[in-house]
Amino acid sequence: MAQPTIEHIGIAVKKLSVSIPLFEKLLNSPCYKTEVVESEQVNTAFFLKGSSKIELLEAYSPASVINNFIDKKGEGVHHIAFEVDDIEKEIARLQAEGFMMINDKPKQGADNKVVCFLHPKSTNGVLIELVMENKKID
Ligand code: ZN
Repeated sequence: MAQPTIEHIGIAVKKLSVSIPLFEKLLNSPCYKTEVVESEQVNTAFFLKGSSKIELLEAYSPASVINNFIDKKGEGVHHIAFEVDDIEKEIARLQAEGFMMINDKPKQGADNKVVCFLHPKSTNGVLIELVMENKKID
């Protein structure tokens, strides 16, 4: 049986310049990567604690989903990302089970991953991201 694992937890923050040093202290581990994700209009920063990964997300434009999220809910946990082996197959399986996808085609995410999101309306209010190690998608 395939074992989906938590690939990372995404946390919405107002300012990476404030939150990067905060998480470095919290996790006692340096931010190992920052990356702009244009599809979501966010700046991201990554941390590792053991084998757990944390992704901080900061909006760089008012139109970013992270900006909307912080307006509504404030800073905090934004999504949980599960690693999958075959993202297209997993999307098809979840859709057949009645889950709503935000995007039903995988797209380029941060950290060299292909990603898609499930609508929180169909997952008890939790935004779920599926991530797969990048390979060519057509
Ligand atoms: Zn993520």
